[in-house]
Amino acid sequence: MYNQKSLKAEEFISDKEIRETLAYAEENKENREVIDRILEKARQKKGLNHREASVLLACEIPEKLEEIYALAEQIKKDYYGNRIVLFAPLYLSNYCVNGCVYCPYHLKNSNIARKKLTQEEIRREVIALQDMGHKRLAIEAGEDPVNNPIEYILECIDTIYSIKHKNGAIRRVNVNIAATTVENYRRLKEAGIGTYILFQETYHKETYERIHPTGPKHDYAYHTEAMDRAMEAGIDDVGLGVLFGLEMYRYEFAGLLMHAEHLEAVHGVGPHTISVPRIKRAEGIDPSDFDNGISDDIFAKICALIRISVPYTGMIISTRESKEVRERVLHLGVSQISGASRTSVGGYVEPEEENSQQFDVSDNRTLDEVVNWLMKLGYIPSFCTACYREGRTGDRFMALCKSMQILNCCHPNALMTLKEYLEDYAGEETREIGMELIARGLEEIPNPRAKQTAYEYIHDISRGMRDFRF
Ligand code: SAM
Repeated sequence: MYNQKSLKAEEFISDKEIRETLAYAEENKENREVIDRILEKARQKKGLNHREASVLLACEIPEKLEEIYALAEQIKKDYYGNRIVLFAPLYLSNYCVNGCVYCPYHLKNSNIARKKLTQEEIRREVIALQDMGHKRLAIEAGEDPVNNPIEYILECIDTIYSIKHKNGAIRRVNVNIAATTVENYRRLKEAGIGTYILFQETYHKETYERIHPTGPKHDYAYHTEAMDRAMEAGIDDVGLGVLFGLEMYRYEFAGLLMHAEHLEAVHGVGPHTISVPRIKRAEGIDPSDFDNGISDDIFAKICALIRISVPYTGMIISTRESKEVRERVLHLGVSQISGASRTSVGGYVEPEEENSQQFDVSDNRTLDEVVNWLMKLGYIPSFCTACYREGRTGDRFMALCKSMQILNCCHPNALMTLKEYLEDYAGEETREIGMELIARGLEEIPNPRAKQTAYEYIHDISRGMRDFRF
């Protein structure tokens, strides 16, 4: 039985409800009256539930699709302005006891060299990341209670936060590790993590069990209920995601929104972010072995629909996607992207050996190239970490977003962190474009006091001071 508020995976992600949703979407995909009603609700920024959003996903009427894209773009502008937050993944360890058939870290893969960073190696990786200009990391690790116990992850987080090289600092560490216990989530919270990210991979239980044949990750309920445990432990910024390609995208899309609705219903706050990875080639992994790959068009449609369905949730695109695809979806609602990523353990310091990556990266540009490109497209690259450091997490962040105070708060924070980047790390051309962008951006701050303070802070950054925030 479908029950949004249940704490049981099979009740809040009910297979029957998803199937009925898909049937309802199929029946209504050409029903203009229903579609217009749904679009009107989205236009009022009320978000959409999984049934409504699924109708739009099934709809193929060209002018309605245009409306969806235009609306996604508008909602993105209203809530996020033109800021794009930048981050990088940091792979700590590829030891893993699971059997995930899409991931090269799986236990039986003897073709990859197993590696776990020492604290000294982490120092070197973090310095390399700081020297590029990164301020936010997402740490990644396989699941292995012996090689990567929670104590190891906590020690790594401490090390990362402790390193201050030149003007560099990592100010927010997001964590992407396997589902764990409430007690371990509490320890992560105490270590000062930003978002806890865990991809569901697939919401389809049978498929989930088939593609996770062995190891602790095989347990569908334990994995699906992980975010409830994280929230119970006090982590109120959690990041959802589906690995597109494993199952039918319409099924996954409905499941993803049901998961978001469940978190909102039970904990009073929806997901902080949603990621939309697609399966990529890796050692022993051929994406064409999976039957449910999605085209770039469908990918863009999914991004636009996530944006209008959950307007306050950030959306993340990694370097799994090419420059072209990233460019296409940026204005449809993506709010965070990774840049200059290395997906092998130790990859920021050592040259990456062939087939050592967790997946092939499609966007190989440097961080400076990414920053430069974003600005030329009219975006403000942001290294901001202010909300979490000011305690604006969970519903407090959502309140900021809903009150549309972004131009007085997030916008100046973005400009100030961009200014730091330009002072400390940018190439000459990037610096020139950025300085102009900041000058124009400061003028856009509506509140006169906020504007005055932002001017002063930007000036102080030119004089060598760092780390201002609203
Ligand atoms: N081991 C942890 C877990 O099980 O959740 C965490 C992290 S894993 C390093 C990060 C994510 O990479 C996985 O959740 C999966 O969605 C994604 N991934 C794995 N193999 C991939 C591939 N071949 N292509 C694209 N993404 C992949």
